[in-house]
Amino acid sequence: MTDKFLHPETLAISAGRPQAAPGAGLNTHISLNSTYRAGGEINYGRFGNENWHDLENAISALEEAQSTLVFASGMAAITAVFSLLPHGAPVVASHEGYSGTMSLLKRYHTEGRLEVRFVDITDTKEVISQLQGAAFLWVESPTNPGLNVAEVAVIIGEAKKRNLGVGFDNTFATPLNQKPLTFGADIVMHSVAKYLAGHSDVILGSLSVKDPALHTRLIEARTTLGGVAGPFEVWLGLRGLRTFPLRFNRAQESAAILAKKLAGHPAVKNVRYPGFGAVISFEVGATVEQTEAICDASTLIANATSLGGVETTWERRRRWERESHSVPENLIRLSVGCEHIDDLWNDIDTALTQG
Ligand SMILES: *Cc1c(COP(=O)(O)O)cnc(C)c1O
Repeated sequence: MTDKFLHPETLAISAGRPQAAPGAGLNTHISLNSTYRAGGEINYGRFGNENWHDLENAISALEEAQSTLVFASGMAAITAVFSLLPHGAPVVASHEGYSGTMSLLKRYHTEGRLEVRFVDITDTKEVISQLQGAAFLWVESPTNPGLNVAEVAVIIGEAKKRNLGVGFDNTFATPLNQKPLTFGADIVMHSVAKYLAGHSDVILGSLSVKDPALHTRLIEARTTLGGVAGPFEVWLGLRGLRTFPLRFNRAQESAAILAKKLAGHPAVKNVRYPGFGAVISFEVGATVEQTEAICDASTLIANATSLGGVETTWERRRRWERESHSVPENLIRLSVGCEHIDDLWNDIDTALTQG
């Protein structure tokens, strides 16, 4: 039986194990080595590590990729992608998305490093018209924190027709909802720190590809830019990944229910929930200070940034200087975790009322 016929719940558990042999551990030892004796496969800790492959193989199985590379962070992975583009290359990207990606692309654009054509990613016509003469399409869908959804299959298809490279940030949807490589994307990126690892205890990123030549170029980028992941983080990331489908399915189920409840709450307006995933963004009829007070009034939910952990978190996104000014001041981004739904709703309802 090949991996292809296994369900993601099974792949997350079975992929990326050491070779089965009598006496072999079920998990690879944490390999704390910066250097290796000459003549073997790995020579130096920036070139490779025994722990990387297990996590890489497991993510490849979930994304239906040929290969995956882990990085020190999602941003290290994104930096490696854009490092492949020649100076001044025209890139089509959403004008709204993860704030780190937005800052990087804006800086590259200002410096002339790339010519970024910022588009409304939900406006398929606009995206397609901007693809003309471009070299690369970067997609994040749903977007963070606006939860805007692109017509993913259509825009990837149109970009490939025009010979663009396509990179896709699949952090929010995860391979349980969409596998961009199967639509023709060249690179799928994850902030592994979020749902894949899922315990708010590591920073990690990944890039998955189908093309071996692209894989080689990305290895070169990782090695020279140096955004390499620590062995312990990678080991923890894989330990977390074993339960990713369990956690994500539960969080997504709860998010769908909470989105409905929020929409019916008198203190809440404009709930953004794309119908899948476990992040909900909503606005409250409140000032900046009152919105902050709501986030602080919860006892179970942590007022904290980031997302994708077993612990439910929320925050007022505009507390971050670098967040896009198109995001409303009173928008709260809620990352739904795995606690019991009734406990979560009680906490949210109390905070909305008291805050
Ligand atoms: C967190 C995040 C990133 C950046 O990943 P890091 O691991 O924090 O560097 C990129 N894209 C999205 C959608 C994210 O949520």
